[in-house]
Amino acid sequence: MDTIVAISVVSATEEKADKAIEAAFSRIDALDKTLNFFSDTSELSRINAQAGSAPVAVSPETVEVIAKAIDTSAKTEGAFDVTIGPEIALWDFVSKRMPEDRTVKERLPLVDYRNMRIDKERSTVFLTKKGMRADLGAIAKGYAADKAVGELKRQGIRAGLVAVAGDIRAFGLKPDGSGWKVGIRNPRTGGKDDEILATVELRDMAVSTSGDYERYFMKDGIRYHHILDPKTGYPATGCRSVTVLAKEGVDTDSFSTGTFVLGPEKGMKVLEGMGFEGMILDKDGRVFTTPGLKGKIEFKGQH
Ligand code: ADP
Ligand code: MG
Repeated sequence: MDTIVAISVVSATEEKADKAIEAAFSRIDALDKTLNFFSDTSELSRINAQAGSAPVAVSPETVEVIAKAIDTSAKTEGAFDVTIGPEIALWDFVSKRMPEDRTVKERLPLVDYRNMRIDKERSTVFLTKKGMRADLGAIAKGYAADKAVGELKRQGIRAGLVAVAGDIRAFGLKPDGSGWKVGIRNPRTGGKDDEILATVELRDMAVSTSGDYERYFMKDGIRYHHILDPKTGYPATGCRSVTVLAKEGVDTDSFSTGTFVLGPEKGMKVLEGMGFEGMILDKDGRVFTTPGLKGKIEFKGQH
């Protein structure tokens, strides 16, 4: 998945731990092969290649994650939009390439999750317009964390943590009876590396953070980052980072991105409506937290 995956488990023997971790990594590998945006042979690439032409038969798992992605798109009123692909393709955050404004605007009509159709019975996915492209970049990692945890449990593991970059799912308790402590990074460290802004303790929960500090470049004092507002095709401007806690990684991953685009006011409403916990750091560094997060979150320093 083009990122670092870390798996920890609690186990009586190293042998059992190794075997379970091996199986969980294989599970993530398999998902990477089907959902990878960049490989021509993935199921996702086949769906994109047939946009505007024909429904594509894919595995039930691909249908499942896309159904989830469409659902989150609807619940965030398109702030998270699984069809953001044509706009994302215009940006290059490594070589700091800005797209032409004209092209950004031309492609906006291609971004609309309502034009992505799934047929669960036939196990097919169809992008109805030519040029559409689905992008699972803001949901696949959380989904993979869920599936890896499922695999660990199947292997008889009772407690563990899977971190697919910033998408983390934990289950059970550590041997000392405590939950799994996860740090939330400070999005503005002023040059210093990874600084922890706060920690949360997880027990059978997932957490994801979306931020404007992971993949970005600066130009004329403006920060251009990889979370785009599907309405404009440009990076969303309301937040610096959004952290979401929920039962499943598939939700925390996609809703952290969607909430980031919605901004603090609408974003908090959506999180509360979903019954999720979350923290938003807005563009001016103000902190918003859902009521239920208090007591679970511990702040470390300045932000
Ligand atoms: P990260 O990948 O750094 O964990 P996110 O989970 O927020 O961060 O996902 C960002 C990725 O999601 C982008 O690289 C892009 O592929 C995709 N994306 C960007 N904007 C949106 C959006 N509004 N809706 C859905 N996916 C998006
Ligand atoms: Mg996300």
